[in-house]
Order: sequence, then structure tokens, then C-alpha cells
Amino acid sequence: MKGEIAVIGDYLGTIEEFVPGDGTYADDGKIYASNIGIAILDHKNQTVRIEGKIQTELKVGDIVFGEVLSVKKNIVTVIVRKIMGFEGIMDIKTGIYVSNISESFIESADKMFGIGDIVKGKVIKIEDNLIDLSTKDNELGVVKAFCKRCRYPLFKSEKYRDKMECASCGHREDRKISSDYGNVAKI
Ligand SMILES: [Zn+2]
Repeated sequence: MKGEIAVIGDYLGTIEEFVPGDGTYADDGKIYASNIGIAILDHKNQTVRIEGKIQTELKVGDIVFGEVLSVKKNIVTVIVRKIMGFEGIMDIKTGIYVSNISESFIESADKMFGIGDIVKGKVIKIEDNLIDLSTKDNELGVVKAFCKRCRYPLFKSEKYRDKMECASCGHREDRKISSDYGNVAKI
């Protein structure tokens, strides 16, 4: 079944035939798919793995997840790791200009994002390999943020509206938060 699409739970072979690899699990000597993707049954190396659907290029309108690499006053650099709805992992440099962060006026991009934050953004422009993301919509923005002082994950403050708070050191910070904040299991 080399090259066939496997879904979660599909039987792939036995542990006598293969070493279970990425996207598989073994149960009672049998190997099954734990991901949706292409089943790669490598008889030569006696391995089996599932390769996710891989999309290597971004297109305008894609909703993506990425990691903040650097923050400046006018632009946030984000390394896109994943397109929503696709399994493949990627490594594509993009940017969020200060004017594309929010519907409200943002004076400085570095106040609304921190290095290492996980961002959900939308591809709005691709030109000469420069890719612009927007986080203007309500469901777009930071889905996971880390304290700039101690790197501990931040939570939405209940006391201070629109503020993020560190559970470890109590530091309060601003972010352009996604309405999906904290919901990173789906990524
Ligand atoms: Zn902290």
C-alpha cells in the first residue's frame, strides 16, 4: 500500500516487518496510522511512517501558524510553521507590518508581540518573496505568549482588561490576542 492515503487507525503491518516511524503506533504487534497522510512502507529499511499532506508554498488567504522571530517598532518577523488544515511543517519567513496588526491604531509593533510567541495570521500579500501577514481579525493574533521577563506562559488577565499576565512573576504585558488564545492543541 505504498503511497496510499492512510487514515488514523489504518493497519500498516506488523512489528516483525517494520519499525514503526512518524505518524504510526504499535499495538499488540501490529502497526497502525496515528495521523492522516501518505503511508510510506519502506521494505528495504524495514520502516513504516505516515507523511502528512505537505504544502510548501503559501497563498493569499491562507491561515497560518508561526513563531515570532524578532520584533521591531514597525514590523514583526514570523516564521510560518504550518498552514491551518495541512499536516506539513514548514519554515517560511513572513512579516506583520504595524498597520496590519489590528483594526485599532497600534503605535509600536514590539509592544503587541514577544519573541517566541505563537501567532495565528492570515496571508494578505505575496510580492517578490516578501510575504505579509495580517492579524486584524478577531480570531487572529497571538495564540500563545511568553513573559518577556521570565519566559513563563502568559494568561489573559481577569483583573486588567486587554492585558496578559504572567503566572510566575506577575508581569503584565500587551498582546494582539487571538480569540483562540490558549487553544493550541489543534495546531
Ligand atoms: Zn514572568
